[in-house]
Amino acid sequence: MTRHLITSALPYINGIKHLGNLVGSQLPADLFARYQRGRGNEVLFLCATDEHGTPAELAAAKAGKPVADYCAELHEVQARIAEGFRLSFDHFGRSSSPQNHKLTQHFAGRLYDAGLIEEVSEKQVYSITDKRYLPDRYIEGTCPNCGYDKARGDQCENCTKQLDPTDLIDPRSAISGSTDLEVRETKHLFLRQSKLRDTLDQWIDSKTGWPVLTTSIAKKWLHDGDGLQDRGITRDLDWGIAVKRGEADWPGMEGKVFYVWFDAPIEYIACAGEWAEANGTDWERWWRTDKGADDVTYTQFMGKDNVPFHTLSFPATVLGSEEPWKMVDHLKSFNYLNYDGGQFSTSQGRGIFMDQALEILSADYWRWWLLANCPETSDSEFTWEQFQQGVNKDLADVLGNFVSRVTKFCRSKFSEDVPAAGSYGPVEEALIADLQARLKRYEALMDAREVRKSAAELRAIWVAGNEYLQTVAPWTTFKTDPDAAAAQIRLALNLIAFYATLSAPFIPDAAASMRAAMHLDSAAEWPTDVAKALSELQPGHVFSVPEVLFAKITDEDREGWETRFAGGRSA
Ligand SMILES: [Zn+2]
Repeated sequence: MTRHLITSALPYINGIKHLGNLVGSQLPADLFARYQRGRGNEVLFLCATDEHGTPAELAAAKAGKPVADYCAELHEVQARIAEGFRLSFDHFGRSSSPQNHKLTQHFAGRLYDAGLIEEVSEKQVYSITDKRYLPDRYIEGTCPNCGYDKARGDQCENCTKQLDPTDLIDPRSAISGSTDLEVRETKHLFLRQSKLRDTLDQWIDSKTGWPVLTTSIAKKWLHDGDGLQDRGITRDLDWGIAVKRGEADWPGMEGKVFYVWFDAPIEYIACAGEWAEANGTDWERWWRTDKGADDVTYTQFMGKDNVPFHTLSFPATVLGSEEPWKMVDHLKSFNYLNYDGGQFSTSQGRGIFMDQALEILSADYWRWWLLANCPETSDSEFTWEQFQQGVNKDLADVLGNFVSRVTKFCRSKFSEDVPAAGSYGPVEEALIADLQARLKRYEALMDAREVRKSAAELRAIWVAGNEYLQTVAPWTTFKTDPDAAAAQIRLALNLIAFYATLSAPFIPDAAASMRAAMHLDSAAEWPTDVAKALSELQPGHVFSVPEVLFAKITDEDREGWETRFAGGRSA
């Protein structure tokens, strides 16, 4: 038995995520977690909401709620939707947890002691009316580059130029609209990532088998231009983790909090602490190599925009602490899923959001299509037409139809239990040999976290069963040789149980329905010997004809959804 620590990139708190977010981290992470559990391995699968920073404060203000209440509510909303998609987190935590406060302050203290934090004086805009500094998006004004009059302090939305709040012409507070502003000196902390460049470079070089997408992004940030830059890790905000060195106050940093990018990845560790506290267990055996985490395989899943933080900034925090923390072994990154010729966009409400998706179809439809078409080696595209085709062909015609035909035929010609007559011959032996080879390939692809290829192999395993049925045609055989037809249908009923186990990581609900129809308990043992697996259901074993596993998507459905989702929704 091996031990797998699995984390998905943390979804930001300020709203419901779209399907592009889902397929870029949480969903493939869930696939891998379910597969490893299915193989009988020990898994700790963690995710959490990322709750600090200006966007959370602004969204709360817009909703007219205190930011802590807003985050608590949105966390519940995201947790409920995650359940709807059957994301099997062992714990869905919060970066605002007490555990993360403590651990973030601990890391800051260690980094300070190691000489990796620098105090820098900066000029920042202070609002006399609001009695506070105005970082990032709290300040608006005219873009010095294009003249757009609603540019934000961090970026101009019109020309996309990155800005500093002090660059804005005619600046005003985004909170009160006040122009009674002045520039004041304020002190901030910077993480001296540049000092860790060689350490990070060597660490990345030691990682074989990472996707090219991952290493190329990391190397670019390490070496392009002036190389890896130091980064500010503090902000003048109320909402966040107070700046401390471990438990001690930090002179001159009173009233400041850590910048969200610094504390969010530390939540991967703190989340295990939340899980352990909730379950009365130990988390350090997953995270401390001096306390048993040496034999853990740690895989992170994320979209490509998150790669720099996970290959450089977070490792800089962890390596810089000079403590024996478990480091990531496999970093699986994804490109973008586009929506009907453009990008999914949260701010523009463009595309399909997770709650809307579940309103029209249950999780398995989405899980299958998104994983089978995930943006693994390049960006990929969601279109309603391809979604309809993929679902109808793979799920309804191939898998669903197989289950339906076999169980209904057996009920009508024999009974609702596994027929006893006849025995397997050369055709069945050839099928078993083919499936044995395919099972090995499927396992190797799943172990390698090759999502699309795994889906293709699973589909081929389903197709093999359909081709077998077409070849032996029990409905014809039955007329001349009912015993041979009985053996054929016995094999096919066993294939349903076999398919359920193999398909569960992709389509857990359908897999559970298939096992329930075969009157098997939900926990299946992963098959190793296909011949043995295909004799699990013995003659006389009772089954039921299940409800339709997957309904076909009609042209009318598709057209209706195309129209409904064309307009977008307000963020
Ligand atoms: Zn501009």
